[in-house]
Amino acid sequence: MSSMIHRLQSIVQEVGRSPDIQHALDLIASRLIHDLHANACTIFLVTTEDPPTLVLKACQGLNPEIVGTVERRFGQGLIGIVAKRAEPINLIRASEHKDFILVPNSGETDYPVYIGVPIVSHRKVLGVIAVQRSDHAFNEDDEAFLTTLAAQLATSIEHAESQGRFKLIGETREDKTAHIVKGVAGSPGMAIGRAIVLNRGVNLESVPDKKVDNAEPDIQSFNDAIGKVHDDLIDQAERMRDVLPEEECALFVAYAQMLNSGSLIDDTHRRITEGNWAPASWRDTVEEHAHVFEQMDDEYLAERANDVRDLGRRVLRKLMLEQSPYIDFPDRTVLVGDEISATDMADVPTDCLCAVLSSHGSGSSHVAILAHALGIPAVMGVANLPVKQMDGLEVIVDGYSGSAYIDPGNDLLSEYETYLQEEAEIEQDLLCLKDEPAVTTDNHRIALYVNSGLMADHTPSLRSGAEGVGLYRTEIPFQIRDRFPSEEEQYFIYRNVLKTFGKKPVVLRTLDVGGDKPLSYFPIKEANPFLGWRGIRITLDHPEIFITQVRAMIRANSGCDNLQILLPMISDAGELEESLILIRRVRQELEEELGQIVPLPHVGAMIEVPSAVYQIDDICQLVDFISIGTNDLTQYLLAVDRNNENVAEIYSSLHPAVLKAMQQIVEGAARNDTPVSVCGELAGDPLGVLALLGMGIEVLSMSVGSLLKAKKVINSFSRKELECLLNQALSLRGARLVRERYTQALDSKNLGGLIRAGK
Ligand code: PEP
Ligand code: MG
Repeated sequence: MSSMIHRLQSIVQEVGRSPDIQHALDLIASRLIHDLHANACTIFLVTTEDPPTLVLKACQGLNPEIVGTVERRFGQGLIGIVAKRAEPINLIRASEHKDFILVPNSGETDYPVYIGVPIVSHRKVLGVIAVQRSDHAFNEDDEAFLTTLAAQLATSIEHAESQGRFKLIGETREDKTAHIVKGVAGSPGMAIGRAIVLNRGVNLESVPDKKVDNAEPDIQSFNDAIGKVHDDLIDQAERMRDVLPEEECALFVAYAQMLNSGSLIDDTHRRITEGNWAPASWRDTVEEHAHVFEQMDDEYLAERANDVRDLGRRVLRKLMLEQSPYIDFPDRTVLVGDEISATDMADVPTDCLCAVLSSHGSGSSHVAILAHALGIPAVMGVANLPVKQMDGLEVIVDGYSGSAYIDPGNDLLSEYETYLQEEAEIEQDLLCLKDEPAVTTDNHRIALYVNSGLMADHTPSLRSGAEGVGLYRTEIPFQIRDRFPSEEEQYFIYRNVLKTFGKKPVVLRTLDVGGDKPLSYFPIKEANPFLGWRGIRITLDHPEIFITQVRAMIRANSGCDNLQILLPMISDAGELEESLILIRRVRQELEEELGQIVPLPHVGAMIEVPSAVYQIDDICQLVDFISIGTNDLTQYLLAVDRNNENVAEIYSSLHPAVLKAMQQIVEGAARNDTPVSVCGELAGDPLGVLALLGMGIEVLSMSVGSLLKAKKVINSFSRKELECLLNQALSLRGARLVRERYTQALDSKNLGGLIRAGK
């Protein structure tokens, strides 16, 4: 068993290092022949979708000239049967099978023992691997081995295929058509812009390719970086002499010598001269050298691969330090990355940032929410995003469908320019609603608030007619610093927003870090961060943080009197009681310090953990208001990580179970006369607005960009019809059906343009 794991790991690792997909496939085919003692191996991949067609991409043991010439439809031949059924076939007399097709000129003589397994990723058959031999049936272990390998390779193949099409440096791209990548809709809208791949400079694999026309400056900065690392290493050896044994110090000297070895430097110079910038040229040289070491049978020498990579990172860090201040953001920057953070977004001037495209995350990741708050589209969880090859390329981002086009042709560009034009017209039309109230056609007045936290500038919110701030995520000012902000710093931030909104209510939420909102200066390592130390759990364990924050809030409220405090991640009424004791204590201390009466702001609880739904009466009795956090409520009710692209398809706040839970919350609030609002992303989704109004919710808080669209929806429906619609939705079996039902309702009023590109 362990030898199977070893073989699998070694194949998968080698594939991971393959420079392109063809190399990877040839390698798999020859490794399989060797490992399974077979005579022939063929690999077919699906190359066209409609109808799905498999093309022979690699073969070993047969005439190599047939590669690229053999095609099978799903269901045609044994290969086609494996693909159609999406399950393995294991035969001892393949040639007698009714579907067997002998490929002419293949050179196949007599290999009747046959096993074929599908390569499947996310329910989609990407290809088939077939292995043949002249005798000895393939046993269960062989089948298990191949199936496991195919499953592991599916992702690599998807990824390699995507990367392979984007070799920009040192090769000419043959394929001139736009490359479409699919992810999940993160934030609605569309944009056309230039990709900028941010790199913080410690990770060799994520360095992007970048064309350089003039090699000289890059060669110079590379030589400087090598010189600096060399000097650092010699210094380190000297400094360590007193504390480390001689042989350990010698290691630093050996590193320095390795660094100066001609081939590491010469190979990098050559790559730069061929047109790639210094960091990517260095990345490839390091990988090549590390790989040579890894191939060595001698364990000691194989270990040296790690040393080369370590050196690689040290030099890269120096190189990137030189490069990073020079990022020249294009006017329309599409921020592209494997894992984009809130701080990455903050690095781009807001007027340049037009879209976000990320390999990880989903629609309810905080980066997507930030994009929404900025009114720009985001596509998240694009598993095969060719990040490294994208820097500087033109990109269309479609945040409605969750797709993006890389290097699009003129036809696509003009199609999307038309959509953008239509979207601009819709937005223009909506502007006339700015000063109108949001009222259903049967006269129910709905209050619309904005979610905030990122923007220092609140004018867009005020201009769009917001009635206040329904959720101010205070964690964002915490995230963009390198230490906890002081009480004074917080005071100024809160004071600014409270004053800006005048008499309009502002709901400041206490710190909600943890989960996918880390603080670089307060690292938390947990296996399940969303089920771990998050939100109120952290601040109750650190009352000094909580008290400082609440003091800043209450002080900032002086003379404004529009502050409300919201407590996140309440999973137990006891947490509320503890928080209230602290808040009252702060108020009392401030009164003592100031010698005057300090008003106690309204305090509310977020209902976003399922246990809070079942304690709704207890909670309502303790607070002045509740606010439903649909993002987390959905994640915890459906047991679907809001940040995980693998399950993004099944994350939906329109799931009937989530709607039922929300209905229970609303009923609980009504029983206790507690005002209830919704501040999760569902509140700004036109389909969500329909569902929430049907429950009788009258206060919604959303990203500023959604406000006028929501108003348009509200003004077009009656509460009565939405109650009926909700009853229908609740009787449906799944989120997809609910979405369809509400989409129909929107379309019936000609409002489909609010949720998708094209009218
Ligand atoms: C929510 O969970 O719905 C919410 C509004 O809070 P956040 O997205 O910041 O976790
Ligand atoms: Mg939440």
